[in-house]
Amino acid sequence: MLSHQTKENPVFNIEQLFNNQKLTSLVWRDSSASERIDRLKKITAWIKEHQQEIRDALMSDFGKPEAETDLSEIFPVTAEINHSIKNLKKWMKPKSVSTPLPMLGTSGKIYFEPKGTSLIISPWNYPFNLTIGPLISALSAGCTAIIKPSELTPHTSKLVSNMITDLFEPNEVAVVLGEVEVSTELLKLPFDHIFFTGSPAVGKIVMKAASENLSSVTLELGGKSPVILDEDADFKDAAEKIVWGKFVNCGQTCIAPDYILVHESQRETLLSEMKVALQKMYDPDYKGIEKSPDMARIVNDKHFKRLTGIIEDALSKGAALAFGGKHSPHTRYIEPTLLTEVTDEMQVMQEEIFGPILPIQTYSTLEKAIAYVNSKPKPLALYYFGQNSENTSKTLRETSSGNAVINDCVLHFLHLGLPFGGVNTSGIGKSHGYHGFLAFSNEKGVLKQRVGLNNVTLLRPPYGIKAKQIISSLIKWF
Ligand code: NAD
Repeated sequence: MLSHQTKENPVFNIEQLFNNQKLTSLVWRDSSASERIDRLKKITAWIKEHQQEIRDALMSDFGKPEAETDLSEIFPVTAEINHSIKNLKKWMKPKSVSTPLPMLGTSGKIYFEPKGTSLIISPWNYPFNLTIGPLISALSAGCTAIIKPSELTPHTSKLVSNMITDLFEPNEVAVVLGEVEVSTELLKLPFDHIFFTGSPAVGKIVMKAASENLSSVTLELGGKSPVILDEDADFKDAAEKIVWGKFVNCGQTCIAPDYILVHESQRETLLSEMKVALQKMYDPDYKGIEKSPDMARIVNDKHFKRLTGIIEDALSKGAALAFGGKHSPHTRYIEPTLLTEVTDEMQVMQEEIFGPILPIQTYSTLEKAIAYVNSKPKPLALYYFGQNSENTSKTLRETSSGNAVINDCVLHFLHLGLPFGGVNTSGIGKSHGYHGFLAFSNEKGVLKQRVGLNNVTLLRPPYGIKAKQIISSLIKWF
């Protein structure tokens, strides 16, 4: 058993663990691509051998269907590893930059050095994917890592801990299990990089703690991701995509569509297509969605009460139930729920929903829909469905979001060529693929000069007329 997991003196032991990783990070600074690739390959091999255990852990934690575990927990991790293995040599290679005229005679390169020690704090909603995903980026960049998974998914967190103990020495990668107190102690340490995935509220705490040591941070946060459905969208296609993107993982997805803005002429079309899609995906035999083996459950009683409270609050303030609303506390089941006639006074429009409830509002002009989105904090993702290219680019130009998807939703998470992440309240920094590698790397700019020569030789004091003439022409021409 790892000493840092004892209860007697966790602070001392965590510090010792950190100090040991610090020493390893100095050795790993010079690790080659093939050494890093070997570390990644061990993870793939472990996953292959323990795939059923991963599925079982997720099933125990919140009834996550096996197919969804394979698709949204395992596949993104193995794909991320394969992508890194394929590209790591290229990413690590120092990049030459062109020389600006005033720097003539010098050469410039960007070196990618590992930041060093890293801390990864992960959430419960994709507890395998969102813990191992950042670890792949840390290992690709050559960093050590201490991982603090969520306490709300104990089976998956324990499995991750076993996996890391099987594959790494504690001075390389280690898992520290625990709740807020453990995170708080970890956050006091001078990590070179902190990668946090979770709520904006805790993100602020993490950033504040990081500022004490000036540790760099990646904050993958949440928020209310809107869907805009323009008049000319293909409503059958859009409804199917939105239903899947919203109700996969029982709506407990950071990039799930949080609310819909649909053109007022098309609300009924959208609603009827969404009902058809819900039936087709989750109730093909007309036994009720509760019987579907493909619908996960709410993670715990606290979140169950929060979500049923959101529905009650909306209905008590005049919202209409267009679909769903049933729930069962014993199994923590909440039926996919569509609400119309919602207003900003309702909780459902004030906080990130993070569950299977979808409010639908109408708009009269695209300008008004855009203004509504812009009146709220910048979202993690924005989804636009429509076929008019002018409206598409207007929406992209006039809104700000971490990511945007046209005519689909959620799918961008799987595109490893794209930076993934939020903007301001929905996140700081990006992850996935090269962007994840960059998050854990210091881009060191290196300038090489010729011996005996210097581009500012003529500009040294005492500043004569010639120097002043050169400085004026520099300002004028460059
Ligand atoms: P959370 O912020 O409550 O917890 C995340 C992690 O922080 C957990 O490991 C938890 O133990 C730890 N933590 C909690 N309170 C803390 C504190 N006071 N100090 C230090 N650490 C603390 O988030 P959650 O409920 O696990 O996850 C849901 C949130 O995460 C949602 O807002 C969702 O949008 C967001 N999320 C974002 C992404 C993304 O990639 N951007 C992905 C998944 C989830």
